[in-house]
Amino acid sequence: SVAKDGSVVPGRVRVAVRLRPRNAEELVADADFADCVELQPELKRLKLRKNNWDSDTYEFDEVLTEFASQKRVYEVVAKPVVESVLEGYNGTVMAYGQTGTGKTYTLGCLGEEDTAARGIMVRAMEDILTELCPETDSASVSYLQLYMETIQDMLDPSNDNITIIEDSKTGDVSLPGATLVEIRDQRSFVELLRVGEAHRFAANTKLNTESSRSHAILMVHIKRSVKGGDSGLSSENGDSSHMIKTLKPAIIRKSKIVVVDLAGSERIDKSGSDGHALDEAKSINLSLSALGKCINALAENSAHIPVRDSKLTRLLRDSFGGTARTSLIITIGPSPRHRGETASTIMFGQRAM
Ligand code: ADP
Ligand code: MG
Repeated sequence: SVAKDGSVVPGRVRVAVRLRPRNAEELVADADFADCVELQPELKRLKLRKNNWDSDTYEFDEVLTEFASQKRVYEVVAKPVVESVLEGYNGTVMAYGQTGTGKTYTLGCLGEEDTAARGIMVRAMEDILTELCPETDSASVSYLQLYMETIQDMLDPSNDNITIIEDSKTGDVSLPGATLVEIRDQRSFVELLRVGEAHRFAANTKLNTESSRSHAILMVHIKRSVKGGDSGLSSENGDSSHMIKTLKPAIIRKSKIVVVDLAGSERIDKSGSDGHALDEAKSINLSLSALGKCINALAENSAHIPVRDSKLTRLLRDSFGGTARTSLIITIGPSPRHRGETASTIMFGQRAM
């Protein structure tokens, strides 16, 4: 991460937890039971009930209750990442949790009927478009699905096996095969998300799987023209005294923000699964556990981030750690019936801290 003065601070992941409200079914079926968690947002604490009289307490960077608005969630989880991306650094916002706990609502809600419901993707683009200078700057978008270690283009369904190119010197990641669409206004962005979502649905129907079994990845590439040769990045050791102060021609500064709606984290019942479902489950376990290992390594300030273990982490390698800023939102539901899954989601978040 990057401090206000531009100096580089260890790339720790910021972790927020968000509780979804009870849905209609839970309001009825669990009416006699307390929620499995109790939130103390001012203390940034969450209590996970063990039984009627005992609970475990966990701390997070932010604790968002069922009353937290989409606007507040954006401001707490994503806005700092968007701001640093606009300054020229890479960044990632990820949602992790059991299917049905609100990952897609939090990140991808288009909010067309109800603008207050707009999620992180739409709000991020709004801030980006406001900040960019239309004459000299640009924002371009790719929208991908990662399923069973295969990357599919959600903007062009015929493009179903995209390769990741990694620059061995800089560590930069690129996807030359992915469709890249320049975004000039908010309406065309929302339309693009809708088209991508429809393609994702069609692709999943063909593969006989559900969207919760794949990772959805939105990449926004920013190019800005910066005058005077100020790249916005301080020198490696934070000492800018030797930086050349004379005016240079405008240079192009590139950065990107990656928003990842992760596959559902729930354990699949392997006993009842056929070969395909089993392969699917193994693949999701592989990528989520590879992500967990990278996040742990970042939390421990380790020099080695094991990005090579999955396509998901290879894809993200230049977007977390180093100077990049990373936010993880873990989403949970209130139902006491899902206490086990909720506990494992909370532990994933804790290991990132
Ligand atoms: P996931 O992507 O994790 O599977 P979804 O985002 O699809 O979960 O959410 C499941 C359902 O719960 C959806 O109908 C969604 O609109 C609703 N929901 C999720 N989070 C909230 C929230 N904070 N407030 C209101 N409804 C929510
Ligand atoms: Mg979803």
